[in-house]
Amino acid sequence: MIVKPITWEQAIDAAEVELQTGAIADARLNAELLAAHTLGLWTRREVRDRAKEHLTQQDLDHYHSLVRRRLQHEPLQYITGETEFFGLRLYCSPAALIPRPDTEILVEEALKVIGKRSGEVRVLDIGTGTGCIALAIASKYPGAEIVGIDISDEALALAEKNSKRLVFENVRFVKADMRSKDNMSDLGIFDIIVSNPPYIPLPEYESLDPEVHDFEPRSALTDEGEGLAFYEAIFANIPGLLAPDGALLVEIGFGAREQILNLSHNMQLESTVADLAGVERVLIFIPEHQ
Ligand code: GLN
Repeated sequence: MIVKPITWEQAIDAAEVELQTGAIADARLNAELLAAHTLGLWTRREVRDRAKEHLTQQDLDHYHSLVRRRLQHEPLQYITGETEFFGLRLYCSPAALIPRPDTEILVEEALKVIGKRSGEVRVLDIGTGTGCIALAIASKYPGAEIVGIDISDEALALAEKNSKRLVFENVRFVKADMRSKDNMSDLGIFDIIVSNPPYIPLPEYESLDPEVHDFEPRSALTDEGEGLAFYEAIFANIPGLLAPDGALLVEIGFGAREQILNLSHNMQLESTVADLAGVERVLIFIPEHQ
């Protein structure tokens, strides 16, 4: 049987229909980005420029295998192994949470706080995962000293890989457990502490979309409790970790503000920042006496 070779445009159209039928949101975008990945490209635009080209059999097989993975709800970012965060191209893997656009708000707020300071600034990112927050801050403040910590060796290896690719010399990744005081006190004192800890309460975790629940690391999403354990650990560490004129910025889950405020005995809330959907997303604290 002689099969007429198809063009990328045709292959993408067919994949779009398949993905749509498989209830994958943003089917066109997914079909195009998987095509980009097959071609070793990064943007949809580059793929569109090659829309009239024919696929080799090898390309077609590869593309189909990627579309099949997406139909199983594997996140696009794990299939392509990359994502974009705060204008940076970052590697992604199931070792760490996929950076979310919401977390860019935490970065923006941290940058504003850093921008108001003079002199040397030390920044700590607790539970760094891919390293996205630490690296985004590093990209804007090459003079700052940034330390990202995580308990997971796999996540740290991924963060290192991202750091090497971006060649920022002011970021370091260190293995540490935020729940252990000894561990944390070795890190020194920081002017800014940022964190997007695992905050999804267990009952909510169980009802997450399969893309998140079945593929992203459980330990990066939930504390197996009410979603507050890691804030408690952070507040417990603050006295030996944060400079007296420092600031703590944390990302929070939907509706968690009041519960977190109840835990923040040694800190005062300076502001609450909402995300684009109007959901309170970032809390900024300063030490109580300021
Ligand atoms: N925002 C993420 C989500 O909703 C959760 C991130 C986290 O637990 N830190 O999937």
